[in-house]
Amino acid sequence: MNHTAQRLTFRPGQDGYEDELAGFQTGFAQRPDVVFAAAGTDDVVAAVAYAAEAGLPIGVQATGHGLPDASEGGVLISTRRMDEVVVDPAARTARVGAGVRWGQVVAAAAEHGLAPLNGSAPSVGAVSYTLGGGLGILAREFGYAADHVRSLELVTADGAVRRVTADSEPELFWGLLGGGANLGVVTALEIGLIPVTRLYGGALTFDGREVDPAAILRAYTAWTETVPDEVTSSVAALVYPDLPMLPEALRGSYQVTVRVAYTGGAEEGERLVAPLRAIGPALSDGLRELPYTESHTIHSDPDFPHAYYGESRMLEGLDTAAMERLLALTGPAADRMHVVQLNHLGGALARPAANAVPHRDARWLLRILSPLDGTDRESLREFYADVLTGVDRHVLGRSLNFTFASGDRTEGLYDDETRKRLAGLKATYDPANLFRRNYDVR
Ligand SMILES: Cc1cc2nc3c(=O)[nH]c(=O)nc-3n(C[C@H](O)[C@H](O)[C@H](O)COP(=O)(O)OP(=O)(O)OC[C@H]3O[C@@H](n4cnc5c(N)ncnc54)[C@H](O)[C@@H]3O)c2cc1C
Repeated sequence: MNHTAQRLTFRPGQDGYEDELAGFQTGFAQRPDVVFAAAGTDDVVAAVAYAAEAGLPIGVQATGHGLPDASEGGVLISTRRMDEVVVDPAARTARVGAGVRWGQVVAAAAEHGLAPLNGSAPSVGAVSYTLGGGLGILAREFGYAADHVRSLELVTADGAVRRVTADSEPELFWGLLGGGANLGVVTALEIGLIPVTRLYGGALTFDGREVDPAAILRAYTAWTETVPDEVTSSVAALVYPDLPMLPEALRGSYQVTVRVAYTGGAEEGERLVAPLRAIGPALSDGLRELPYTESHTIHSDPDFPHAYYGESRMLEGLDTAAMERLLALTGPAADRMHVVQLNHLGGALARPAANAVPHRDARWLLRILSPLDGTDRESLREFYADVLTGVDRHVLGRSLNFTFASGDRTEGLYDDETRKRLAGLKATYDPANLFRRNYDVR
């Protein structure tokens, strides 16, 4: 049987092969034997059947933001054409296809006075983000995006098309949300939406050469102790490279930015952020009332494809001295650019939910991200191990969504109990481990 017949496929050397593989991460390439450019569930079924028959590993790509590693051979299912979003305003839900980016869902939901639990960047794929938990800009108030999933449609390794809810197949539902890429190709999600149309928040940036970054960190962490769950925030520090493509004001500057999102009123918002404004003179103050459709301006993540490596730590507590050392080693004294970010967790994120999203007791998510401009991952790994000394004292594990280009390293992604339970599901639904081109739970 030829499962590629009448399907849109690309093989190495054919026109369109490179374009189909192009994604946000440019640090390394996937070179599959065949790409199935899926337009719908039938194409995904055909691709899975083809791979199963040939015994080939299956990778999935929507946008390429979360590519774990380079790969050779096998089958790649490209889902970018499965980009339909249908909002049900009465039920406050949306059905999002496997290739949908968050920006589309935000726009479609806003037409009905609703919002999804999207993250910082509109270009990120909604499905994979949610399968990895999904830490959104309102995470402390509403929890992980995964906690709001009503149903998942997927194709498992046996080629079966399934619609899974918490009632129909509770164990598979549990495992897909947190371990999803391991158990099949999710073709669509039905997600809950929230009635939010506006926010108070934005970015407050300090010049890290004028205001001591360690003092900003201390003031920020003390401030987080005082805010309600309706406030979700993070702080980021980076030295911009001196590159001609950057606006002159950014080149070589050391910026420490506090990012805030609050669903309450503007007046109360102003009162809540006053201690942040009191930290010192701001380089820029973008704290304001804003429509939800502008929520991507809170983080202003880069929107151009590039090469990057990144690690994360889910932390129960912060060692202030170790954090200050980390900031000092990754700031202007470093020989290359690093972005350090600290997200305040807790609130609804700590509530138990019927899914495999781990490390719910974490109070902080620490992330380091570095461009891979001629830098090898091994030297960054060694550098990170050094700068994380002391910080790791409070570690629960690593974050699935914020572990970039980490290859096949899976340690710390799950606690032992979750991992064993996921491995059990893997043995049932993917015994030949076709879906091993991700963070493999086996
Ligand atoms: C700039 C930027 C901002 C980000 N912001 C946030 C944020 O605010 N919050 C947050 O939680 N995360 C965030 N992330 C992380 C992001 O959620 C993950 O990297 C996610 O995996 C990206 O999904 P994608 O579809 O865009 O990427 P892809 O690289 O296309 O997919 C990543 C992996 O997911 C798996 N996969 C993709 N589609 C499917 C499918 N249909 N079925 C099964 N498996 C699939 C595959 O294993 C694939 O390798 C951000 C990442 C970047 C680069």
